[in-house]
Amino acid sequence: MEQRMFKADGIVLRTRILGEADRLVTLLTLEEGKFEAVARGARKIKSKLAAGVDLFNYGHFTFHRGKTWPIITGQDTIKSFSCFREDPDLYPYGIYMAELSDRLISGEQPCAEICRLLLEGWKLLGEKNTDRFLLCRSFELKLAHISGYSPHLHSCTNCGSEKALAFSPRQGGLMCSCCQAADAIKMDPGTAAVARRLIKAPLSQSSLVRLSDSQKKELACVTAAFLTYHLDLGEIKSRRLLAE
Ligand SMILES: [Zn+2]
Repeated sequence: MEQRMFKADGIVLRTRILGEADRLVTLLTLEEGKFEAVARGARKIKSKLAAGVDLFNYGHFTFHRGKTWPIITGQDTIKSFSCFREDPDLYPYGIYMAELSDRLISGEQPCAEICRLLLEGWKLLGEKNTDRFLLCRSFELKLAHISGYSPHLHSCTNCGSEKALAFSPRQGGLMCSCCQAADAIKMDPGTAAVARRLIKAPLSQSSLVRLSDSQKKELACVTAAFLTYHLDLGEIKSRRLLAE
């Protein structure tokens, strides 16, 4: 028989109002994948749950299996990143990482690795010396890699030539001038090398990478087009906040 009670450590990715006083919380958990759960009374001033089910919160949760959604019966905060909500410089990055993770994961699949990546991303985002641009690019590439869609960045995806100067989102990798696809975007070998490094190295080392302004532009174009095409993400709303 399925147990009525269960526990999970998870991140609050999204919340929305439910009924008079409740919240429906989207959680990304280490043990149970992504799912929605009800925080009863979380909109009441005296609610013990309220702070624990806020966006950017990571905690230990206990649940009771409800008819439609699990009901949150307890919560202990492990780490709160709620300071992002009041910081106009950090908020767009924090919400972008959350939205990207959210959109990439369908309910049932295990997502502990993405959960840890998001926690690490948020932790680094709050640190002083972090290059936020590179952190986001590294986060995007790692997310794609974990999801099994790493771009091909060593040679032409079609013929294997090492003289590849463009990237085709549709082909999922570099293209040489002979094979060039209609959707190819300029990507010089230096930018491709940086992208390879960002996939491999820990997220914490992303700020050590050096890039020219034009390479930064190329990298941002390539990762955005690749994610949109391959992961079928459509529009990422928070990307607009980042652009501003
Ligand atoms: Zn080729």
